[in-house]
Parts: sequence; structure tokens; C-alpha cells
Amino acid sequence: MPANYEAVIGLEVHAELQTRSKMFCSCPVVDPTGSEPNVAVCPVCTGMPGVLPVTNRMAVEYALRVALALECEIYHTSIFARKNYFYPDLPKGYQISQYEYPLARHGRLTVYTPDGEKTIRIRRVHLEEDTGKLTHVSGNGDSYSLVDINRAGVPLLEIVSEPDLHTAEDVRAFAAGLRDVLRYLEVNTGDMEKGFFRIEPNISVRPLGSEELGTRVEVKNLNSFRALERSVDYEIKRQVELIESGRAVIQQTVGWDERAEEVFVQRTKETEDDYRYFPEPDLPPLVVDEAWIEEVRRALPELPVPRQKRFESDLGLSFGDAATLVAEKAVADYFELAVAAGSDLAPTQIANWVRGEVFGLMNQDGLEIDQVRVTPAALVDLIRLVERGEINNNTAKAVLAEMFATGESADTIISARGLRQISESGEIARLVSEVLEENPDQVDLYQGGKTTVINWLFGQGMRKAGGRANPQVLRAELEKQLNKSK
Ligand code: ADP
Ligand code: MG
Ligand code: ZN
Repeated sequence: MPANYEAVIGLEVHAELQTRSKMFCSCPVVDPTGSEPNVAVCPVCTGMPGVLPVTNRMAVEYALRVALALECEIYHTSIFARKNYFYPDLPKGYQISQYEYPLARHGRLTVYTPDGEKTIRIRRVHLEEDTGKLTHVSGNGDSYSLVDINRAGVPLLEIVSEPDLHTAEDVRAFAAGLRDVLRYLEVNTGDMEKGFFRIEPNISVRPLGSEELGTRVEVKNLNSFRALERSVDYEIKRQVELIESGRAVIQQTVGWDERAEEVFVQRTKETEDDYRYFPEPDLPPLVVDEAWIEEVRRALPELPVPRQKRFESDLGLSFGDAATLVAEKAVADYFELAVAAGSDLAPTQIANWVRGEVFGLMNQDGLEIDQVRVTPAALVDLIRLVERGEINNNTAKAVLAEMFATGESADTIISARGLRQISESGEIARLVSEVLEENPDQVDLYQGGKTTVINWLFGQGMRKAGGRANPQVLRAELEKQLNKSK
């Protein structure tokens, strides 16, 4: 980015609301990868004459959750509108959306960017329905498109930010932060590959210091953070080059070619009139009363950024540990249950175990946290045994792996397998004198000044103890005997 220009970026995000049924009919919302095409279809979502849509109350509630989490003003009365256009994935010939009177406006979201916290203003949040899906097939001299209506009518939330972003890194941070919020609210899984969460950046550049917005280009439907970052960087560079060479940026909608890493023009921007918006005559205004809003507000979970701050300030976690643990709500919940069960332990120690060993075993077995058979309390019991010196760290790791596999408690496994740590000084002393007797050459080396050989002798002692020796006691005893017999 040349120093004399500034990029200005605003995002439009489309998030499916993952309710059980569609926005205006009782068809189920089906997973696109797990079902045959055109199985979740009825006269309403295919737009047959004479049918009437009915608003899905749960979809409105999900939308309210998001709008409240984004600190928006909620409009007690909002209006559904018809957005008319013709396309094969839109069997009705129009999409039901909200236009002049959306559900919510004027919100904000604070996220962590590479250079600190930033608050991005939210312009509006409105409800609409998704379209169907086209699959373009070509080959053997043939070319056609397949239409799948399963997705048509799935509740969709559009979230539009103010143009408060200025770099690709910030755009990514904002999009990721927003996705985290939706996942915390349990309205969207955040699965971008499946198209559940789609991002469209609007990008313009202007001379640094100028207050006026430049002409914007909109990149459609990006489905990965990588594509988002790359396309924004590409587009900023392209626009600066145009302006530098005395040409004008044309307002248009572009797609992102993942392979070539460049944008391609889809259409020059239609004016608003093209859609011939008008209030949806088949639906009453959407009314949400104060009592409902309050009920939803009270049930909101603590959101990722405040939770991360609390983990840092109240539990003493580092930024990195806190960020890792809050990323997934179920993981953060697990961690907090462990902290509550282990109030005698340092939260940082519990964090280390969750981040290190628990995550390691989850990765190894491809498990999500809610599939883990070790309860937070059982994990804490294990950590406590390490703290008390009853088992050492390495034994504890092996025990945890067995707890993962069997769901049994640390105590049961340790007793059944005789894994309790040897800390008793008499027993360790006997062990050490055996090791020294068996390895006179190494003892000589040590006493001749090559003191690092103690590590090798330590290994021998640990092996003799079946890995169960208390490492501190063992090391101290080795030093004692080696130096005494000098
Ligand atoms: P639409 O694309 O439907 O016409 P808006 O005009 O509301 O919608 O803008 C969509 C998005 O584009 C918003 O996120 C807004 O912040 C952003 N935006 C609007 N104008 C510009 C601009 N000149 N440069 C960058 N972003 C812009
Ligand atoms: Mg737009
Ligand atoms: Zn239907």
C-alpha cells in the first residue's frame, strides 16, 4: 500500500441461521453435503401460486441474538420486502428480504486485530431467505446447470458493517471475530466451505487524508479467510494502480478466481431500482416486543472477546492461552468447569493441560471437546495427583491417554497398573546405588569432571523404576551419591 493512499472497506456477511425448518415454510433445513438434492421442497419455497409464507419464530429469535450481541438498536416493527430478480436458483422470481425497515441498525463489534483492539460499527442486520444452488456441468460437448432447491428459503441473516476497515488483516480479524460470535450464539456453525458463512468485502481507495469515499468494488461470496485476505489485497493494489495511471475505478461486482488469484468482473453495479423492492404483501410487519427482546438479551452467553479478557485478568492467562481457550465455546466451558473443580490449582496449570495434553489427544483421535470422555473434574483429579507427587508428569500423560480411551478415573488406572510414583527416599537410594554399581565407567567420567553424564545415569534410574521415580528425588539422590563417593 503506497503511503499516500488509504483503503476503505466495509463487509456484507450472509450467515445462514441454522434453525430446524426454513424461514417461511416447514421444510427442514438440510445439510448440503448430507442429503440428496430437492428433498426439502414444498409449494411455499418453490413459489407455487396461491401459497402463503409464515415467519419462523426461531429464526427471528436467532436474528435477535445476533443483533443484541452486536449491540444494535432493535426495531420493534420491521418490514419484509420483495427483492425482485430473475435467476434459476430463485424459483419464486423474488427473494423475501428486508430493505427500508430492517430488524436492527447501529451496532458495533470489538475484535482483536494484529495491531490491537478495534471497534467496527455495524450498519444493519436484516432477515431474508437463501436462494437455491446451481451446479454448472460441462463436458462431452454438453453444458447445462443443475438446480437444487433444498437451500431456497433457508433463513439468512445479512450483517452489513460501516466502511471502518482499512487493511486485509483487519478485514480478516473482523470477519473471524464475527464468525466466533455467531458460533457462540449457536445460530451458525461458521462452516465457510459449506457456504453457511459468506463474506463480501466492498473495497475502495482514496488519497490519505481525504474524507470522501472512493468508488467501490464488491467481491462476491468468498468462502474462506484466505480468499478474503488475498482478494482484498489484490483489489487495493489494482485500484491504486488504476488511479496512479490516471484511470478511474468503475463501480462493479467481481468474483475471486482462487486459482489465478485475481478478480473477474461479474457485472457492473445495478442500481437499487433494478430490484423493484416493495413491501411483501403476503406477510404482516415483523413485530418484536420489548419483553421478547429482554428475554433474548438475558439468555445471551458471555461473548468471546469479553470472555478472553476475563481469562486474562481474573485467571492470569496469557493472551495466547486465553485466545486459544475461548475460540470454541465448548472448550472454554470445559476449561472453566475444570477451573471451578480445581480451585486449589493454578488456572494457568489447568490451561496448560487443556491446551497441551487434552488438545493433543483430541487431535490424535479427531475428537471434539464434547466427545471427550474425561470430565473436567476427572482431569483436575489427575493434575492434583501430579501436584501431590503421587505420579510424575510422564506417567500422568500416559494415564490421561488411558482415561481418554476408557473413561476411567486416574485413581482407578493408577491403582490397577501400580503406577504410583516412587518418592520414598529409601527406595530411591537403593535404586541409585544399584545404578552406580552397574555403571562404574560413567561414575568415573562424572567424577573426572564430565558432569553431564548424570543425565544418562538419571535415564538408567528412571528405567529401573519403570518410569515411576519422582524425578526431583531421583536427581537429588544421584547428585548426593555421586558426590559422596568421589
Ligand atoms: P449495497 O451493496 O447493497 O448497495 P451498501 O451501500 O449498504 O449496500 O454498502 C454495502 C457495504 O459497502 C457496506 O459494508 C458499506 O460499509 C460498504 N461501502 C459502501 N460504500 C463504500 C465505499 N465507497 N468504499 C468501501 N466500502 C463501502
Ligand atoms: Mg452489496
Ligand atoms: Zn418449503
